[in-house]
Amino acid sequence: MEAPLAYDPNNVFARILRGEIPCDKVYEDEHVLAFRDIRPQAPAHILVIPKGAYVSLADFSARGTDAELAAVLRAAGQIARDQGLDESGYRILANHGRDAHQEVPHFHIHIFGGRNLGRMIPKPD
Ligand code: AMP
Repeated sequence: MEAPLAYDPNNVFARILRGEIPCDKVYEDEHVLAFRDIRPQAPAHILVIPKGAYVSLADFSARGTDAELAAVLRAAGQIARDQGLDESGYRILANHGRDAHQEVPHFHIHIFGGRNLGRMIPKPD
């Protein structure tokens, strides 16, 4: 079995949380920060992250507190509502690890909306 990935405190989202690089913030509370994705793949593409240091869902779901877990999910729903996406619809997605092509090793939920997103995930080539 592969060892779990150690948290890299210099990943880009950790640097955003420390205020070292800017972000286009849409939401913040005690446990959560959310900002627009720098390379949006839909008219609305927002990243929701816990402020705590967690690599991915595997890590967050194992070590995060109940308050942090609840805060992230509640924030995701609230942000989608605030962005006016409830009626037309939206998708949330979280990548973990190699097969999912996770790029940034700080847990994040993507919210996509504002266009027809197609069904689920693409079929293999
Ligand atoms: P993932 O493949 O799930 O790890 O997605 C990482 C996401 O972070 C990608 O959609 C990137 O476009 C996005 N991203 C990378 N750097 C930044 C940044 N500085 N500000 C906002 N989004 C970023």
